Amino acid sequence: MMPDAGAYDLEDLRARVMQKNGGAVDDSIPELAAADADQCALALALPDGTVRGTTQAESPFSVQSAVKPFLFALALLDTDGDAMDLIGIEPTGEAFDAIKLESGTGRPPNPMVNAGALLTASLIDGSDVDERNERILQGLSAFAGRRLEVDEGVAHNEHLLGDRNHALAHLMRAEGTLHVGADDAVAVYARACAVLVDVKALAVMGATLASGGVNPVTEERVVPPSVARDVVSVMATCGVYDGSGRWMRGIGIPAKSSVSGAIVLAAPGRLGAAVMSPPLDEQGTSVRGRVASDLLSVELDLHAFGS
Ligand code: GLU
Repeated sequence: MMPDAGAYDLEDLRARVMQKNGGAVDDSIPELAAADADQCALALALPDGTVRGTTQAESPFSVQSAVKPFLFALALLDTDGDAMDLIGIEPTGEAFDAIKLESGTGRPPNPMVNAGALLTASLIDGSDVDERNERILQGLSAFAGRRLEVDEGVAHNEHLLGDRNHALAHLMRAEGTLHVGADDAVAVYARACAVLVDVKALAVMGATLASGGVNPVTEERVVPPSVARDVVSVMATCGVYDGSGRWMRGIGIPAKSSVSGAIVLAAPGRLGAAVMSPPLDEQGTSVRGRVASDLLSVELDLHAFGS
């Protein structure tokens, strides 16, 4: 018998996770550097539409790289799958912002690193930056089951201070793999990273992927089952950057980490989950988020390859 996620004591899990210390809050932009290192929240979204959260489950934060699976999903949807040919799907074993493209093709290595997300964001429908921004916000909102908003300060600073993202966009222009202007690509990606969520919204987004593309709360089909499957597969192999192998072996739940300290998890057929705690390890993964994911995997029997 599978453990009952509907009866699982999330507040107790939070208390246990809070005992874990260590890691450092990201300081790439002032808004992230100002995060409260003791913020910690968890949420589960179940296939029947139940969403359960702990203390602080409705505290907002910028989604950052936890947006990447959803940008990939929207790019696949809006290009009728053509995005799959324009981007690699192999893990890199390198940092999220490595200035490196696939050798031979000049394509980004995968959609879960910055090069890939700059490209997937640029493939989403819209004839200019404003239209694309609006389509992304509308698409992410469908995944979350409520209208999301953007933190304009974060969007501005991500765009202004994201030197490595500008470098990657120019490199892809030089390789002929990015077909919008480099600055436009960074602007759209920066704004997507600045979308405000809370762990409840992020858990529902994960649950939509885990439920084959149907949002379990609104019952809206957001993406076809084939897109959900492709995205979750690439989360499993590439979602935790150069820590993806260790993550999948130990925790075994497809996930995406982010510099805000959020992790979105999608356990196909079982549930979506999200954890948020700002201090990060060397690979940019939330220290408490990893502990929480590990405990969830064991205690709810969520490892993809068995307990
Ligand atoms: N906005 C961040 C960047 O592009 C996201 C990185 C992350 O969350 O891992 O640098």
